[in-house]
Amino acid sequence: MTRAVTRVAVVGAAGRMGCEVVRAALEDESFELAGGVVEPGAPELGSDLGELCGYGKAGVAASADPPEGAETLIEFTTPEASVEHLSYRRPVVIGTTGLSEAQLAEVEEAAKGVPIVLAPNMSVGVNLLREVVRELSGRLGYDVEIVESHHRNKVDAPSGTALLLARAAAEGRGSELDEVAVYGREGRSPRQEDEIGIHALRGGAVVGEHRVIFYGQGEEVEVIHRALSRRTFAAGALRAARFVATAEPGLYSMRDVLGVSR
Ligand code: NAD
Repeated sequence: MTRAVTRVAVVGAAGRMGCEVVRAALEDESFELAGGVVEPGAPELGSDLGELCGYGKAGVAASADPPEGAETLIEFTTPEASVEHLSYRRPVVIGTTGLSEAQLAEVEEAAKGVPIVLAPNMSVGVNLLREVVRELSGRLGYDVEIVESHHRNKVDAPSGTALLLARAAAEGRGSELDEVAVYGREGRSPRQEDEIGIHALRGGAVVGEHRVIFYGQGEEVEVIHRALSRRTFAAGALRAARFVATAEPGLYSMRDVLGVSR
């Protein structure tokens, strides 16, 4: 049964996504903002989280560790910090992207003891688009190229979402992404039969755009997702937090949260 109020703490509360989740939690009566974690030694330590995030006084201070009362953590930091914070051993929604294979293995190991939602993209639209891309890729059998654009400060490339969509396209045609992915092209690089090209653009303030293009001989099909505001990710993160608060230990994705079948 879903409880009336879910008590969350935001880890990475001073960041772009962290602040968006702080504001979204403060605005939603079905959540209680129990705390917000900032980097050890950060100037924001002790600040009011609402004021830090441009919401107005919230009466909850930024801390170096999540308070006892937080039943669920929502993490948007760096891959290193996200793995380090697994030691909190609390139900957690991890939105951080760019985790290495070794770091993902650590998340999988931790999920044997606590429920974890790992979601490189929290938007409902992208997670439904994933299903569409898998279907189109399998049925059309066309050449697939993925182009993503993000703001100038994004550190990992290609985006976690581009990889999620590329994996769906590979899955749709029964191949492994690692065997068919080509990241950008330079010099002599003729296209191979099953190749999935992935390209990253960076600049300005783009919240996030993903285009998946299926090139046939006589037609082209293109699907586009544009995130217009970080609020769409924050809303998904809160939805995932409510899910993970009552879930059994295990590793979950947004598909589990949204109830989207495979
Ligand atoms: P950001 O740089 O604005 O914020 C990251 C924050 O984490 C910073 O404030 C930093 O001080 C903090 N941090 C780093 N180490 C920490 C630690 N040990 N303890 C506490 N805080 C720590 O970045 P951002 O744009 O908010 O993105 C954060 C992550 O979320 C990135 O990996 C990004 O790709 C990802 N992201 C995911 C989604 C999604 O839907 N899953 C959406 C947008 C961004």
